[in-house]
Amino acid sequence: ATPTALLVGTGRGAQLGILIKGPEALESTRGIDTVVLDKTGTVTEGRMTLTAVHVAEGESEEEVLRLAGALEHASEHPIAQAVAKGAAARVGALPAPEDFANVEGLGVQGIVDGHAVLVGRPRLLAEWSQHLPADLERELHEAQAAGRTAVAVGWDGRARAVLVVADVVKPTSQEAIARLRALGLTPVLLTGDNEAVAKAVAAEVGIDEVIAEVLPADKVDVVKKLQSEGKVVAMVGDGVNDAAALAQADLGLAMGTGTDAAIEASDLTLVRGDLRVAADAIRLSRRTLSTIK
Ligand code: ADP
Ligand code: MG
Repeated sequence: ATPTALLVGTGRGAQLGILIKGPEALESTRGIDTVVLDKTGTVTEGRMTLTAVHVAEGESEEEVLRLAGALEHASEHPIAQAVAKGAAARVGALPAPEDFANVEGLGVQGIVDGHAVLVGRPRLLAEWSQHLPADLERELHEAQAAGRTAVAVGWDGRARAVLVVADVVKPTSQEAIARLRALGLTPVLLTGDNEAVAKAVAAEVGIDEVIAEVLPADKVDVVKKLQSEGKVVAMVGDGVNDAAALAQADLGLAMGTGTDAAIEASDLTLVRGDLRVAADAIRLSRRTLSTIK
């Protein structure tokens, strides 16, 4: 490869809002046919708001919001921030948890006011034998079918509530997907979130292939599997949970608005977090490579 052509490509990239890690980063874009996109924070804003609170019979909404809000206040997850903010708006000051732990891809657990509290996927609560009553289970599925994210709240051995948060698709995502398709690339949505939510988001932006309910540690395996099927894979992500998959992909693209871990694991960074620039990046590197050849 002639260094000059690579440098020109890199300079043009900077103008477009693409940071390129090194000249060899572009080499890997040759033959890319599949673009795997993380959902939360990549295709969607990743900023959610608390839209509904469903409590089990006999439970107090205020107590649910106080305990769940207190615990989520300690987490940086977009769902957690929505819950904490929504809870504080409704019940005022939240207590500080006496203990807190993040359970990757599942939720949070900790101690608030002496109660052992869990907030997250029903699977997390099920691990502690806390099962949602039928009416809450129904609310959870209804919310998910509508494309919202629903999380369960439990403490002291009982599931007590379902909280609904909604994230919105970025205004630029639909056009970004159309641009990727125009380049002959197949977009795939990859998320730890529920299948119904993932499908609703995919439909909104024009993605046909959805791989949902994938644990953070398993995202990298999805990329490996696609590669073993002969696909050449670009991956776009923003989260700590995307880092291994971004490194594994033939081309890793990080949202500049995302975490340092994602940026460090990637070949390219989309400085403004605009997904449309992912298509520009792939087009640019194709053009740069054909100049070199
Ligand atoms: P994504 O892959 O879409 O970025 P994550 O892997 O971070 O999502 O999370 C997967 C799922 O785990 C979420 O949709 C949510 O149901 C649950 N979850 C993770 N962290 C939290 C949290 N702090 N509070 C509540 N639920 C959580
Ligand atoms: Mg994410």
